[in-house]
Amino acid sequence: MKVIRSSTLTHDNTKPFGKLFCPTCREPLEFKKLLDILTQGFECKNKHPFFVNLFSPDSFESAKAIDLEALKVRTDEDIMKAWLTDPALRKHLNTQLAETLRRIYEIQFEAKHIFYEKKDLACVSTHFHFCPLCKNTLVSYDQPDIGSLGLKCKNNHEFRYRSGLRFGWEIHGIRLKKELDNHTIQTRIKGWLDPKNKALRSQLPNQIEHIFKKYVNQLGVEK
Ligand SMILES: [Zn+2]
Ligand SMILES: [Zn+2]
Repeated sequence: MKVIRSSTLTHDNTKPFGKLFCPTCREPLEFKKLLDILTQGFECKNKHPFFVNLFSPDSFESAKAIDLEALKVRTDEDIMKAWLTDPALRKHLNTQLAETLRRIYEIQFEAKHIFYEKKDLACVSTHFHFCPLCKNTLVSYDQPDIGSLGLKCKNNHEFRYRSGLRFGWEIHGIRLKKELDNHTIQTRIKGWLDPKNKALRSQLPNQIEHIFKKYVNQLGVEK
């Protein structure tokens, strides 16, 4: 299986899309380096954060993570860095798991807190209001994929929204996702730690389970 490095998504191979604009405020969207080697971050000058997953392992690969361990690590910070930057470990991490772990790292070590208004959480048009290719307003349209929401601008740039804005599917499709807020992280961790959720538990390495439990406990203390 070919693992794409974050360095492979550059201005050059986003050329088919041209310059990208922030779907929330229309300012240019710049590349932003994130700790996770398989995620490319984006941010505008108003600090609206987005990201693209460069690679998602299938369940066969992510099930192997449970037998792996980051070695020579002393602190939780070391553990998070190892799982997100060592290709041998990272390529087995479930995508949701990697996103959640990265956000815990950002919250704890970079003080990057994100709080969306409750009413905006499920509202696509709050964050994806403008076309990232030409800045015009996005409106919904009918398209054959019933599992996603069709959005397009007056220049006929077409998108499908499902947990992110998917476009360029005929070239090198990308799914632009809004960054995960603190609340979503908590909800996700609860799901991962739920003993009834056997499918998730079977992909959760011990070291990350330990970090999740600690994070939830700390939140409990702060409340
Ligand atoms: Zn913006
Ligand atoms: Zn457009």
